[in-house]
Amino acid sequence: MEFHNYRVSGPQWKALIDASGDNIQWLLDLGVKFAMVSSPGKGEKTWHVYDGFGDALFDQHFLPKAEELGVEILLNTPGKELVMEDGRIVGVKATTPDKKELLIKCKAAIIATGGFSDDPELVAELTTDDMSQVVNGGTPGHTGDGIKMARAVGAASNGWAIFSKIGLTLENHSVHSHINTAAAMEPSLWVNKFGERYVNEDVIFHYTRAANAVGTQPTTYSIIDSNLLNKMVNEGCYNGFGAYVLPGTKLVDLPGELEEALARGGKNVFKADTLEELADKLGIDRDTFLATIDRYNEFCAMGQDLDYGKDPQYLNEVKPVPSMPSISKSSTSTPWAA
Ligand SMILES: Cc1cc2nc3c(=O)[nH]c(=O)nc-3n(C[C@H](O)[C@H](O)[C@H](O)COP(=O)(O)OP(=O)(O)OC[C@H]3O[C@@H](n4cnc5c(N)ncnc54)[C@H](O)[C@@H]3O)c2cc1C
Repeated sequence: MEFHNYRVSGPQWKALIDASGDNIQWLLDLGVKFAMVSSPGKGEKTWHVYDGFGDALFDQHFLPKAEELGVEILLNTPGKELVMEDGRIVGVKATTPDKKELLIKCKAAIIATGGFSDDPELVAELTTDDMSQVVNGGTPGHTGDGIKMARAVGAASNGWAIFSKIGLTLENHSVHSHINTAAAMEPSLWVNKFGERYVNEDVIFHYTRAANAVGTQPTTYSIIDSNLLNKMVNEGCYNGFGAYVLPGTKLVDLPGELEEALARGGKNVFKADTLEELADKLGIDRDTFLATIDRYNEFCAMGQDLDYGKDPQYLNEVKPVPSMPSISKSSTSTPWAA
């Protein structure tokens, strides 16, 4: 509750927690294997990571079990409408792959169509998020069909919803990529579109807090000089990305992914030989940017961040050495399936 600033439903949250042990036991009874119990950043270690991730869970466990139980799975047959009789749901109308209507009779229907991040109207109505500032990390096609079907037959709504968000995302790069970890998940120097720091960057260890901080800015740039880049490659990252890139992983793919992104002309990745050139490429006022770097470097030399109290272990001086590669990104948070 605290983690989400009390914007989640208390009773639903309690029910989820109360059932979590039974849930894990049910998975174990199905033969599911867990690769690790991890945490997103410095959150609680409750993230049970499936061996082989979600694909393995479905292909090796859920699907065979459903088939064994005689479950009929209709692919490409979206549900469109709930059929009511005397105040009860007695069926679901769906559309078959050849565009015919199919009526499935039932005693009860479980709505499990996922989130609504691909429906701008629902997003505008139910959240405070501006999707133009958000990188949508969910699978495509989440248009809130179940919510709409339920509303169409009179279901009540509490009128709001939240997205599960993480701090930063380098658009068009996977969660497993080292360039995304470097640019989006590490407590390097972040500046906004004015070239100013705005937060203690080690907030990135707490995904929701980081998302809240990043959401205050239209754009965040992660500044990484060659020294920090080499440190990430040779000594490892601080934070990583949950179970996808574990803390301490040497980001050996980073140089290649950086060159690839630059060759593709990616709009979120930049490289410059001097700080002035970098400021120009980012469209940031040179003087402000250089002043920010100077002040930050002073704090690095002192081992104390007087502006935001960043943990000194993450204070890495930004040196204007030639051939400095810099990675940046425009904002920001990722709704996960919402
Ligand atoms: C990159 C990423 C990583 C994640 N990692 C984790 C993790 O490690 N651990 C974790 O616990 N959670 C994780 N999540 C979150 C998790 O995936 C979601 O919370 C979860 O999948 C939501 O489950 P759901 O069944 O409610 O919806 P979904 O998994 O979205 O399933 C909804 C299904 O309904 C189908 N559907 C939609 N409309 C219709 C319709 N009209 N008729 C019929 N079917 C329809 C969709 O195609 C979809 O298959 C992650 C999410 C993302 C995006």
